[in-house]
Amino acid sequence: MTSTAASLRLQDRLTAEIEARRDDLIALTQDLIRIPTLNPPGENYREICDFLDRRLSASGFATELVRAVGSPGDSDRYPRWNIVARREGARAGDCVHFNSHTDVVDVGRGWTRDPFGGELADGRIYGRGACDMKGGLAASIVAAEAFLAICPDYCGAIEISGTADEESGGFGGVAYLAQQGFFDRVQHVIIPEPLNKDRICLGHRGVWWAEIETYGEIAHGSMPFLGDCAVRHMGAVLHEMEETLFPALAAKRTDMPVVPEGAKQSTLNINSIHGGQSEILRPDTGLPSPVVPDSCRMIVDRRFLIEENIDDVQAEITGILDGLKSTRDRFDYGIREMHRVLPTMTEKDAPVVTTVTDAIRLTLGKDPEYVVSPGTYDQKHIDRIGKLKNCIAYGPGILDLAHKPDEYVGVDDMVDSAKVMALSLLTLLGPKD
Ligand SMILES: [Zn+2]
Repeated sequence: MTSTAASLRLQDRLTAEIEARRDDLIALTQDLIRIPTLNPPGENYREICDFLDRRLSASGFATELVRAVGSPGDSDRYPRWNIVARREGARAGDCVHFNSHTDVVDVGRGWTRDPFGGELADGRIYGRGACDMKGGLAASIVAAEAFLAICPDYCGAIEISGTADEESGGFGGVAYLAQQGFFDRVQHVIIPEPLNKDRICLGHRGVWWAEIETYGEIAHGSMPFLGDCAVRHMGAVLHEMEETLFPALAAKRTDMPVVPEGAKQSTLNINSIHGGQSEILRPDTGLPSPVVPDSCRMIVDRRFLIEENIDDVQAEITGILDGLKSTRDRFDYGIREMHRVLPTMTEKDAPVVTTVTDAIRLTLGKDPEYVVSPGTYDQKHIDRIGKLKNCIAYGPGILDLAHKPDEYVGVDDMVDSAKVMALSLLTLLGPKD
């Protein structure tokens, strides 16, 4: 047999092996959904790591449980546990790492199914985290196990991690592992987030969060002219944003393939605004007292494009504030950066991208769509802290269902994406012809 024929045979055997594990894939996804890993506060992280430990140890992985001690939210009540499992091949080669977050967001209202029941109906598995992203985690595990069965003497290593806190920034999860050097030994990363089985997510836009405060002077509310109203100053900031900033942001377009279409421009969300006394009347204090507010705070969430520079993003805001300071009587402000993430985008010719592209063609008979996420996910830590660019998000599930009531993942989609993941392992770690 020629080597090409041999590798074709391996591909066929691998996809047949995934098909044969369909029920196992369903059961594994259900089991994962039935461990309620709500974040906040970060429940049952240890339980899900222990579950994954049993499963992956049985498949020959060496496992390590890592608690992100000192990370935001880590406490004895809610410890931030992560698992990293690694299986060495027979010979030297690259390491392919599948990273999934184990946390899920709040259930919310509007469910018609048990959010932690893992109910299977009409080819769909329902539950909080079914799509984001326990279905993807299960698909990557079954893909790896099928690959091990068909190709036991592979090169390199396979790693599977289950990590905490992605939904709250990933600091007790991937960021912590990256700081500990876990990605130093990794060459390829696939994050099975629910991007749809025929799309490859190359990266995400940037984020800049800041708190702006305008200052005033407290006085009696019946004589506001004796004080200085911080809320009116903030009103001037908002007015200036409406007049100049929002139109300017709408005019900035990116060449990044961001989805949905509306996120192909720069955006700004005013996350919160608060000035003066609390609007909540407490029974023990009764009515508010008449005072002129001396402080007003606004939190802005600016999402920026790979074509933009973070210094310019900041300068746009401070430019407005400085402009008001020079033109508006008694205007003064403070500004505090809360959070920053630079945009990231893996090149289309990176090895992990071309490999998964070929596997999608083979499995689905079509070219993938390349997309960029409007919001960030754990790729930011792998890029910035782990210094690894060869990373994508690829996994089953419909992104629009994430965080919604009656969240589900389609079984066929999971099977197809498991095939794509297994075929990618074959390309990256299988016998070279
Ligand atoms: Zn997710």
